[in-house]
Amino acid sequence: MGEDLERLKQRLPLLEYLQRHNWTPHRAGAAQEFVGLCPLHREARPSFYVNPRKNLFYCHGCGRGGDLIRFVELFRNLSFRQSVAYLQREMATDCDFQLLEHAHRFYQLQLHRYPEAVRYLEERGLCDPACIEALGIGYAPGGNLRRHLAAFGGSFDQLCKIGLINEQGRDAFCRRVVFPCRQNGQIVNLYGRSIGSAFPHRLLPRSKGGLVAWETVSHGSSVILAEGLFDLALLWQAGFRNATSAIGTHLTPFQFQQLCDRRDRLVYIVFDQDENQAGQRAARQLEQRLAEVGVPARVVQLPAGHDPNSYFVAGASADDFLDCMERA
Ligand SMILES: [Zn+2]
Repeated sequence: MGEDLERLKQRLPLLEYLQRHNWTPHRAGAAQEFVGLCPLHREARPSFYVNPRKNLFYCHGCGRGGDLIRFVELFRNLSFRQSVAYLQREMATDCDFQLLEHAHRFYQLQLHRYPEAVRYLEERGLCDPACIEALGIGYAPGGNLRRHLAAFGGSFDQLCKIGLINEQGRDAFCRRVVFPCRQNGQIVNLYGRSIGSAFPHRLLPRSKGGLVAWETVSHGSSVILAEGLFDLALLWQAGFRNATSAIGTHLTPFQFQQLCDRRDRLVYIVFDQDENQAGQRAARQLEQRLAEVGVPARVVQLPAGHDPNSYFVAGASADDFLDCMERA
């Protein structure tokens, strides 16, 4: 048990844990220490010190100190045993994220080795290498993912649980073009678009993350919210680098909140022009919800039957799309 605890504390350093939970450290003089506001009590002047070498904290305000487990006990009001269990869960989640990162990098490397994948992107109108790179697009040829991830410590059970492989050990994204889904910069899911006859869309059974590329998109005075990732990709390729996507028409509460984090940013909603009106209805509803919280939004109408992807493939230029935006 004692050895396990040491390993746990080594693999999840106190300083890293605190920063991940939004603690802001400042260097404390010349010493190898950091200081910041105490997360354990209210204070105006920082008196919470962390020594990363010793992996310990001490607060001169409330007089409490100790290691990571002690911190979790105090901060989450848990027993020692509960704190250890909590940290073990936290670490397992961490491993999942790392495996998703490795899987994503693996897929990215495969993309240009498989002509069928590149051909598929071309058919969808996507050919700008910079754009493909910026969106982190990859390809899952199937077959060797499991072996690749085993080298990074991904066990069969773990990969199965995340959903990266199925019970037979086969790559769940086999013959799919893969996009990473991030939240706060971290890959939390993957989206795979089938290039063959399999069901077109696949996400792992976990949160789909935040709005795509939100960190870069959110700074502008307007954003374009598209339905699919290929819509987004084609918009980027046409120069609309302020385009994002919620992967579908349904926004998670987190994604909705992102869209609302500023009242002075105009949101252009451009969902698919479906024959059954589903896209248009979802767009109107979202426009309404945004208006209710004071966020200006407009619904962009494309010619009947089109989404941004098909519109550009059909020969529309950036100016054509701009016209549609201006008419909204
Ligand atoms: Zn304190």
